[in-house]
Amino acid sequence: MAQKPKVAFYWCASCGGCEETVIDLDEKVLDVVAAVDIVFWPCAMDFKYSDIETMADGSIAVSFINGAIRTSEQEHVARLLRNKSALVVAFGDCAWMGGIPALANLKSKKGIFNRSYLESPTIVNPEKIVPLEKSVYKGTEVTLPKFYDTVYKLDDIMEVDYYLPGCPPTAKIVANALAAVVAGQLPERKSVLASDKSLCSSCSRNETKPDSVIIKEFKRIHQVIADPETCFLAQGIVCMGPSTRDGCDYPCIKGNMPCTGCFGPVAGADQGARMTAALGGVIESEEEADIERVVSGIPDPAGTFYRYGLSASLLGSKRKDKI
Ligand code: SF4
Ligand code: SF4
Repeated sequence: MAQKPKVAFYWCASCGGCEETVIDLDEKVLDVVAAVDIVFWPCAMDFKYSDIETMADGSIAVSFINGAIRTSEQEHVARLLRNKSALVVAFGDCAWMGGIPALANLKSKKGIFNRSYLESPTIVNPEKIVPLEKSVYKGTEVTLPKFYDTVYKLDDIMEVDYYLPGCPPTAKIVANALAAVVAGQLPERKSVLASDKSLCSSCSRNETKPDSVIIKEFKRIHQVIADPETCFLAQGIVCMGPSTRDGCDYPCIKGNMPCTGCFGPVAGADQGARMTAALGGVIESEEEADIERVVSGIPDPAGTFYRYGLSASLLGSKRKDKI
């Protein structure tokens, strides 16, 4: 009997939602289990790193790696899987573009540690203990992985063959990707395994999207009762649809929430730059003070325009606070 393709899943710096999507396959997960041999999935089954280390190079058909790279342990295991795998898929936004964790690139490691372990109002830490890479506990040396100063996307540290977008990817595109692996029908290497069009192209509100929008004031979704049929941009609410890749079946729009951009940029675009350019041209004012008033309706530009992809943005991974 022919051997089933070996598949691995691994979880780096992320919330783990991408691996939840595998569970969201529902009964289709039984088809997956029947079609492939899962050889590594630490969040769901008891595997050891040594199980992978003893495998021949290239013997895993595909590894789905979710999460950004923030620690030395994540980098080590990702590189190990790279060596053992014919294909590596960056599984979800954190692996593809840094995801939500990459917003931490606006801060330094020192600033993050200070806030997390010393300054946060809910912290009680009179001895000012912070994690150390090496410490001694009851006479035994204890080590922790190195916490990098920067959140890296997966292809900052190694070759990646395909990218699955989403925060998390939908069950449908995960099932399609697995089916393509099993059938040996993957598209050109380095492809993003989703549509190249923008979300607006399939959005049910597209017909109400004006060709030219003039915005006097940006409103946030909690400040208004949004009309459930009309394009959010036409209502002065930032919706990332114009610069976001199609393929999610727009659940947020159906729930009367604007798109926050989790399917990443349309092919060849910088998601934030494209959106900023689109919005910059629609503010109804030429007076600097008035423009500032309108723009102040977007209080968190980085979190709005690069919520899922700061590591892959024109801003890059280098910007840090000054300490
Ligand atoms: S901007 Fe948002 S609401 Fe408007 S058509 Fe595009 S995705 Fe739909
Ligand atoms: S509508 Fe936007 S934020 Fe919501 S799932 Fe789709 S791409 Fe993600």
